[in-house]
Amino acid sequence: MPNAQPTSDTLPVVNGQLILVVEDEPEIAEVLEAYLRREGYRTERAGDGGRGLDLFHAARPDLMLLDIMLPGMDGLEVLRRVRTSSQTPVIMLTARAEDIDKLLGLELGADDYVVKPFSPREVVARVKAVLRRSQHDEPRNLFRLGALELDTKQFLVAISGKRLDLTPTEFRLLECLIRDPGRAFTRAELIEVALPDSDALERVVDAHLKNLRRKLDVAGVGEMLETVRGIGYRLWVTS
Ligand code: CA
Repeated sequence: MPNAQPTSDTLPVVNGQLILVVEDEPEIAEVLEAYLRREGYRTERAGDGGRGLDLFHAARPDLMLLDIMLPGMDGLEVLRRVRTSSQTPVIMLTARAEDIDKLLGLELGADDYVVKPFSPREVVARVKAVLRRSQHDEPRNLFRLGALELDTKQFLVAISGKRLDLTPTEFRLLECLIRDPGRAFTRAELIEVALPDSDALERVVDAHLKNLRRKLDVAGVGEMLETVRGIGYRLWVTS
């Protein structure tokens, strides 16, 4: 193996963070992946918008590089859909100035953008900066998913702005689920978060979640709380 004795100057930064590259031009995607890997990032790639969206939900990347002009669903639509359930950093790749106007005008929630042709070195620098920024963000207290809003500071849940009364246990369950939308939580995980210091049985969690779902149902968003067969529960929004 070459470089078996790396000096401190040549040691790669092995941080293992996953970057999803959604880009239909293979040469550009390849060079971006090569530069990112050299910096210690892991990468995944998708060549169109639909596949990019699927991979985003499946692979749960730490950051997404998202081209705007893509076959099928374009990058702006991918970003819009991602933002209904996730605050994961997204850097847009664009070849046109009009796209930047659109990005800024629509407030779609991109964290940064890079204009083509770009140097891969510049893109990597942006990736690092955005990740650094997102890691240093204040702990969040406000979570939004579809029509659902949860504020941990005010201990408040609202559906389309209308307040929903929950018990403390229901609130903690919902908070756990909304912090990681789309992820299926096991009953054991939910007990640990929502009913700590108790010997609660799994059916106790089921009972609390049943009550929670009933309240969400009354507010018209009961389908957001999904039972995942053989696993547990997840909170999701179908777009
Ligand atoms: Ca393209």
